[in-house]
Amino acid sequence: MYAKVIVDVPAKQTDRPFDYRVPAELAPWVAVGSRVGVPFGSRVLQGFVVGLVDRPDVPDVRKLKDIGSVLDSHPPLTEELVELARWMSRSYLCREITALQAMVPGALKAKYERLVSVAEHRPEELAFLVPEQLEAVRWVQAKGSVKLDDLVARYPALSGWIKEQTAGGLFRETKAIHDRLRVKTRLTVFVEKEPEELRLAAEELPVNAKRQKEVLAYLADHSEPVGLAELCEQLGTGAGTVKSLAEKGWLAIREEEVLRDPYAGRSFKRTEPMALTPEQQLAYTPIAEAIDRARHEVFLLRGVTGSGKTEVYLQAIQRCLDLGKEAIVLVPEISLTPQMVERFKGRFGERVAVLHSRLSQGERYDEWRKIASGQVSVAIGARSAVFAPFASLGLIILDEEHETSYKQEDAPKYHARDVAIRRAQSFGAAVVLGSATPSLESYARASGETAWQAGPSGEEDAFRRPFTLLTMDSRVEGRPLPPVRIVDMREELKEGNRSMFSRPLHQAIEDRLERKEQTVLLLNRRGYSTFVMCRTCGYTLTCEHCDISLTYHQNSRTVRCHYCGYAERQPELCPSCGSEHIRYFGTGTQRVEEELAKLFPGIRVIRMDVDTTSEKGAHEKLLGQFRDRQADVLLGTQMVAKGLDFPLVTLVGVIAADTVLNLPDFRAGERTFQLLTQVAGRAGRHELPGEVFVQTYTPEHYSVQCASRHDYLAFVGTELETRGMHGYPPYCRLILVTFAHEQVPLLVRTAEGFASRLKERAAASRGLQGAAAMEVLGPVASPISRIKDRYRFQCMIKYRGDARVTDWIREAAAAYDDLVRKENMQISIDVDPQLLM
Ligand code: ADP
Ligand code: ZN
Ligand code: ZN
Repeated sequence: MYAKVIVDVPAKQTDRPFDYRVPAELAPWVAVGSRVGVPFGSRVLQGFVVGLVDRPDVPDVRKLKDIGSVLDSHPPLTEELVELARWMSRSYLCREITALQAMVPGALKAKYERLVSVAEHRPEELAFLVPEQLEAVRWVQAKGSVKLDDLVARYPALSGWIKEQTAGGLFRETKAIHDRLRVKTRLTVFVEKEPEELRLAAEELPVNAKRQKEVLAYLADHSEPVGLAELCEQLGTGAGTVKSLAEKGWLAIREEEVLRDPYAGRSFKRTEPMALTPEQQLAYTPIAEAIDRARHEVFLLRGVTGSGKTEVYLQAIQRCLDLGKEAIVLVPEISLTPQMVERFKGRFGERVAVLHSRLSQGERYDEWRKIASGQVSVAIGARSAVFAPFASLGLIILDEEHETSYKQEDAPKYHARDVAIRRAQSFGAAVVLGSATPSLESYARASGETAWQAGPSGEEDAFRRPFTLLTMDSRVEGRPLPPVRIVDMREELKEGNRSMFSRPLHQAIEDRLERKEQTVLLLNRRGYSTFVMCRTCGYTLTCEHCDISLTYHQNSRTVRCHYCGYAERQPELCPSCGSEHIRYFGTGTQRVEEELAKLFPGIRVIRMDVDTTSEKGAHEKLLGQFRDRQADVLLGTQMVAKGLDFPLVTLVGVIAADTVLNLPDFRAGERTFQLLTQVAGRAGRHELPGEVFVQTYTPEHYSVQCASRHDYLAFVGTELETRGMHGYPPYCRLILVTFAHEQVPLLVRTAEGFASRLKERAAASRGLQGAAAMEVLGPVASPISRIKDRYRFQCMIKYRGDARVTDWIREAAAAYDDLVRKENMQISIDVDPQLLM
């Protein structure tokens, strides 16, 4: 047998699998998806088996080397995931090994060894062994523990038997990963006889063996395996008593692997399915039908905040489980709060695995193994949980499907939504995309706007299939959405208020302090300090060719458009009103906190931003404190906008809506609308009515206006029109190619060479109608023009889903392989970029 192995060869842009021979003694462990160690040149590298063949396509089979070792007892990946990696590599123009590595938990990327020792056994078990097997057992026994690889190398003929014995037989396998990550084990008592026999045996024991009698009687009633320590504690007896019973053959004590449970000891209140509201029923029925028929279909569930989307998810998952299938629930990392987890654990209990970055590496690994081994049927987690290694998926849910965090910013730069759809396709599974404010891309596909809009590679027809739109327009409890007041900050300045708090918001906070109610204040800092705005009239500098905010570049004191490269000096006076209050804009949470303390002496503020939440558990701790009324104000970045549900919050204030609105990004209006809608959904979810204040310098902007009226449809109407006019997604697709190098001349030459190659291609593709398959913009300096002493240039490619485009880009980039390898040139390709920095 021969294996095709994808290895991690740094700085070599190849996805070619290499052929290796599978030595007979390793054969029982090798499957598609196995992780192996293989000789490569003078080194040993890690790789993944992506295929098994009888005959490799090399001229001389004898030249092939052997696989050196198999790193896991069970392949960490399934064939379906291996195939998915191939698709990701094509679609996202990343290396296949990068995709494969993204699918396995971090713990597996570490180096580790598989060790074996002799497990506890009864002497007579050895009686059935052939001499060589007995010798192997004695050899391991004498050594204490040996590397599994060494054992197999010493007794190659026994490899099949050794594999059998390490699965609960004479050998026990442990993994030593970096020392700190060991598979946890515990001594476990297994009942070896029928309850009747145990009762009989208890009677026959001498009267003075009271303890032993008790243990047998207990085990006669409880035949499930139980931890030795637990059993002893339960019965108030010593381990010696139990061991002596084991020697008599009534029970066995073996070391057993235990999985760490991050939620151990926490009990979740069991919840029952609720009777669905008519709106929920209308959404649920078609989803259930698709699940029942194992028909791949993508649903876009647009439901206002509080419309009960989660209950629809829960019941759809139940349907899936009833059919013996599995489900994945993706939520943005910051929404993955204990409350969120509780809702799923409460319904499905032990059948749920939770994957998120706040788990320790060991916990994460164990949750992942529960999925791989089929112990759980539901996985809930952030972006990477889309790779949960289930074998019969029936449903994938993406909650808050519009969230940018579903796009990974490092290679592989995948979008979890597209990966989910791709996986669901191969399983015939349903996908539910839920949001109060669906992304324009998804909405367009669900409303038939751009049926041609393809997935990342643009190649599969199924990717052109439209989504099914489901709508839930009212809140479950019938509570109204809170009123939103727009505060014009230009007026405030005119009337002499230079504070970052308008008078109405100031007054509202004061009221809440008096009434002992709570306030949430949002400051979005995603805008950095880069856009330029006049504080007198609200005018922002935009590019005259692109209708995109210009970016302030401090070192050159210029403003630039990073779509077309247009640049001008930073003006001293506002071009619109002549005021000198024109400056680049940005306020930090820390400054807001200081200002709050100054304006409201004694106010208790909890600040939540990247600085205060970097520690494990800090996020939850801060929210807990706020819930316990230890603070009057929760102040934070977009983290505070997500999913929080506190009864005493009656005021939500957005300090500056414009920080997002003026990002140099065609999605700025969409982000603003989403953020304002979301944060407004936080107020008045309970008995006390809520109120929202949005401070802005551009109150007339349709994003602000539509959000204040909770009017999604009006917003998408206007936004789609704007996108169509300027030729942005969803009316086209984008690929961003970024070059980075320490030397500007080489960098510029490379970026320009790359762009002109592509431009030639584009010109050649111009058909009879004159439309080229793609449009190549740039190169221009990236908005963040230098990172870690490397300068950055970028090209933007616009195209309408033509599958050849990705091939051309791959080809054009491949021409610079030597530069990448020898001169350390970085070329990064982002398909469907979410951030244009
Ligand atoms: P969304 O996820 O759409 O914002 P939630 O799922 O959080 O909404 O639901 C809002 C509230 O309504 C929750 O407290 C939930 O328990 C409740 N709820 C949902 N569905 C029902 C139902 N069918 N009957 C009664 N209450 C419901
Ligand atoms: Zn002005
Ligand atoms: Zn421009």
